[in-house]
Amino acid sequence: MSLPAGCAALALGGNIGEPARAFAQALAQMEAGGAARVLARSRVWRTPPWGKTDQPDFLNMAALVETRLSPRALLDLCLDLERRAGRLRAQRWGPRTLDLDVIAFADLRCGDDRLTLPHPRAHERAFVLAPLAEIAPALTLGGRRADALAAAADMTGMSVDEAATRIVRGF
Ligand code: ATP
Ligand code: CA
Ligand code: CA
Repeated sequence: MSLPAGCAALALGGNIGEPARAFAQALAQMEAGGAARVLARSRVWRTPPWGKTDQPDFLNMAALVETRLSPRALLDLCLDLERRAGRLRAQRWGPRTLDLDVIAFADLRCGDDRLTLPHPRAHERAFVLAPLAEIAPALTLGGRRADALAAAADMTGMSVDEAATRIVRGF
């Protein structure tokens, strides 16, 4: 299944400062600006670092949003919200206050330097798949459903962070 028109799946991650507060703030800013409506929020997962492993654990979550923005404009908004959260790009896959990736946008497929959809590495990342499967289990990435990909993914060291989940859900 792909997402309906105007719907996007986002992956949020961070491991500096208070990532759950950064997630909540970024989603609130998206809504406050009228750019998007948040349809669903996954739980927040605590996950070991990936790619570059000598850094603190990450918090990760996924969200489904409905938007009138184009995919490019949504990406630019994500990059702007990262900057507002104090994100600096020092090293690839290094520590960050907020990473906000577009995992899929409606049924779109595109690939250029600035925006690749669906996100080319999402289907192989447990920290994306576990939260995504909670809110979009039937979404297909690379021909396989998110819930099947999550079930097959290596979730070693991953757990749900209940306190962080309460922060992003506002209770
Ligand atoms: P990864 O892409 O492997 O998750 P990263 O998130 O750490 O790594 P960034 O430094 O945050 O990488 O992003 C680098 C660039 O990736 C962004 O400036 C953006 O233009 C580009 N990009 C391409 N496709 C996407 C997408 N689907 N979502 C977010 N960024 C994307
Ligand atoms: Ca990323
Ligand atoms: Ca990113």
